[in-house]
Amino acid sequence: MSKEPLQPQPDPPPAHRLTVLLPMPFSHGFDYRASEPFAPGTIVRVPLARQHRLGVVWDPESPVAQGPAAPPDRLKAVEAVLPLPPLRREMRRFIDWVAGYTLAPAGAVLRMALPPHIVTAAPPTQWLYHATGRAPTRLTPARERVLALFADGGGSTLAEVVSRARVSESVVRSLVGQGVLARAKAAIDAPPPPPDPERPGPTLSPPQAAAAERLSRAVREGGFQPILLAGVTGSGKTEVYFEAIAEALRQPGGQALVLLPEIALTSQWLDRFHARFGARPALWHSDLSRGARRRTWHGVADGTVRLVVGARSALFLPFSALRLIIVDEEHDPSYKQEDGVCYHARDMAVVRASIERIPIALASATPSLETLMNVERGRYERLDLVDRHGGAEMPRIAAIDLRRAGPEPGQWIAPALAEAISQTLARGEQVLLFLNRRGYAPVTVCRACGARLECPHCSAWLVDHRYTGRVVCHHCGYTIPRPRTCPDCGGEDNLVPCGPGVERLAEEVAMRWPDARSAVMTSDTVTRAGTLRELVARIEAGAIDLVIGTQIVTKGYHFPRLTLVGVIDADLGLRGGDLRAGERTYQQIMQVAGRAGRAERAGRVFLQTYDPDHPVTAALIAGESDAFLAREADARRRAGMPPFARLAALLLSGKSEDAVRAAAHALARAAPRKEGIDIFGPAPAPLARLRGQFRYRLLVKARRDVALQAFLTAWVGTVRIPASVRLRIDIDPQSFQ
Ligand code: ADP
Ligand code: ZN
Repeated sequence: MSKEPLQPQPDPPPAHRLTVLLPMPFSHGFDYRASEPFAPGTIVRVPLARQHRLGVVWDPESPVAQGPAAPPDRLKAVEAVLPLPPLRREMRRFIDWVAGYTLAPAGAVLRMALPPHIVTAAPPTQWLYHATGRAPTRLTPARERVLALFADGGGSTLAEVVSRARVSESVVRSLVGQGVLARAKAAIDAPPPPPDPERPGPTLSPPQAAAAERLSRAVREGGFQPILLAGVTGSGKTEVYFEAIAEALRQPGGQALVLLPEIALTSQWLDRFHARFGARPALWHSDLSRGARRRTWHGVADGTVRLVVGARSALFLPFSALRLIIVDEEHDPSYKQEDGVCYHARDMAVVRASIERIPIALASATPSLETLMNVERGRYERLDLVDRHGGAEMPRIAAIDLRRAGPEPGQWIAPALAEAISQTLARGEQVLLFLNRRGYAPVTVCRACGARLECPHCSAWLVDHRYTGRVVCHHCGYTIPRPRTCPDCGGEDNLVPCGPGVERLAEEVAMRWPDARSAVMTSDTVTRAGTLRELVARIEAGAIDLVIGTQIVTKGYHFPRLTLVGVIDADLGLRGGDLRAGERTYQQIMQVAGRAGRAERAGRVFLQTYDPDHPVTAALIAGESDAFLAREADARRRAGMPPFARLAALLLSGKSEDAVRAAAHALARAAPRKEGIDIFGPAPAPLARLRGQFRYRLLVKARRDVALQAFLTAWVGTVRIPASVRLRIDIDPQSFQ
């Protein structure tokens, strides 16, 4: 907060009592007095425990305002009204709704909409040069070019002058020395140039045009209209929703929000957006600088930023005139936030659209069962794009049965896949090998005593990373140099890697195809957007023959020369056995397979598996996705599992296992009986220890017609959980670790 001196407030009779919600983890607002009845939504500065805080005047009828009322003589005064657009009524209702649904404190939800450190960050500054009007001692051609830039009286950065006038920095410096140019610090707070909806897009095929027109009509009409945009990978879903975005931008002041999984915020997507709309979209995700986020936050609030593409947290931006939400890759598990406020961004996006009364499109080649059920129940409309653009064929998927035709010991690529790799490389086409395991080997075992390298803080094995020469815990980040001696028996050089990771696969590829140019694509090798962009460009340009990647490669890339995909371990995702293992594996393999043969050359996909008859694998091979999804839905219905019922996970954690276990049992004993609600556990969570904390879990399953949140609030409110134990409630849990 700025530190300007406080104006002493004269005691104003008659004072008004207001509830102010602070962006802090409180579930209700605090009462203040003010000389004027500021309208709900007004952003104010208030004192709290001798600090000055940002807050929002809240609606008196909201649950947020039902906290304990302070006596009138104890009320502190509102210090100032901040010069920010008020938080709209729709946004306040949305925050109340999310808090009520997730059982998170309303203030914690507000914090996502009004992050104080971003809202009040100082705008980033830069040096701007401008002409003083004085003439240079001698007018060289270079100096002339520089002065011509300033003829309109505007300012420029040094970099702009150097590149536009084609001069060296010393030319500029000498002009400054003579007093011809001067420089001054200026805030970089200007909104980005607006996207232009009238630039021509590609000519859409008739089915694409029909879908685009339907979405555009929804935007013109307004009103809550949830629409599933389903279409195989490469069918042009992005081109189609670009048309709906154009329509939103044509509305007066109209804004649009595109949510993408963090990992899919790719340079390819941004380049396509730029090509269509002639400007870069405003971005919103956790890796951006505070200054960049400040600019976007203020631009969204005052309406100068018209389009935002972001990860899940962009959903809480205070748009002034939002006309459309797109959730791309709506099935993606990363839309679920698991810490802080536990919310599912796709589901909450639908809620926001309904409160804002605007259309929302959920796009996916492999829609989630939840969304498909909403279509079946008639709540969502469905648009389909059944063909790939330009007549590209869907790849053929075949299994390699590892029980009969597996690789040689010490290798991971079966002969049939190896043969296909050789043929593909010989034709000058590209290969993608998919293995969702970072590092060299998932486990390291001592040959002498059988001990495994384990994380001291988690119930997890340490993963061997050869590129860095370290072993790493993928849960907490604990890491040490790869040991030579066994920590258990002290024996030397007996530690052996077990199982493959992408680095080990890369080693095999280098040995068997020494001439192939290969690249490993994981979150370890592409840690920065820049390196990712570079790698993608090299793959696009054909400078890479063979890509080895984790799930990072499954997202939205379009590599025209890629014709072969090998899934090294198609059973990997099926082993955990959590609720959505089958659905997720199916989606993931369909998405990876979708990278193959996206242009004129047809693609092939091989699944290496020990269980080709598993329903998921069999459905993938037979291309029977509808039958598979119907069977999966049926199994969930019979088991009374989501989306036919609702789940909540109660996770208790703490440093003392006894205290955590005792608290979990106390909670279980206090559970009220209620028709339509089943409680399972407590039991140690599958990841029984994480970052040194022991973890116990209860699962609550509720029929859809039962008020789950009210039940949980009443129940949990009766139990005293000791301060050393933390309780987290996760509604609609996605991860069962
Ligand atoms: P999806 O989002 O369904 O995977 P995309 O929108 O990414 O599909 O389209 C796949 C590729 O086909 C992209 O390179 C896209 O530019 C191209 N494409 C799709 N539709 C058209 C069209 N009507 N005209 C030209 N190119 C198109
Ligand atoms: Zn760990």
